[in-house]
Amino acid sequence: MTETVKGCPLCEGNAAVSAGSAASREQIVTTEHWRVIAHRSALPGWMLIAARSHARSLSDLSASAAAELGMLLSQGTIALEKEFDAIKSYVMQFSEGMLGHLHFSLAPRTADLPEDRRGAAISAYNAKDTPLDDSARDEIAHRLRAAWPAHS
Ligand SMILES: [Zn+2]
Repeated sequence: MTETVKGCPLCEGNAAVSAGSAASREQIVTTEHWRVIAHRSALPGWMLIAARSHARSLSDLSASAAAELGMLLSQGTIALEKEFDAIKSYVMQFSEGMLGHLHFSLAPRTADLPEDRRGAAISAYNAKDTPLDDSARDEIAHRLRAAWPAHS
């Protein structure tokens, strides 16, 4: 799990995290196999959980990477419920962009989410709306990190 691909934005972000030069929004939480990112979305709280190497499929994961992923999905949902009043989370994985680099979307499903943005239509926050700027993403990253539960 150490492959990197030149020109891949997630691999470049992974290198910045390893070098200690990444912004807060690029590393809400990091583990051995994953890092959690405050996504460049219009929806506050939308996170990406990206593999720390250029894995392309869930079938590429080691048992420990898969276990960490499950833990992060649970912990991230707890943080969204606590900090963004989510009633649950949405989890999506396509990995069609980013040169196929394996990453998951973890998005807050709030009680007041408009009906026309529910389910897969939530992707309109990324496809249609103006994304949050970098400073807003950094602030969201700090909030989520503070709300992140300890491993249990
Ligand atoms: Zn990559």
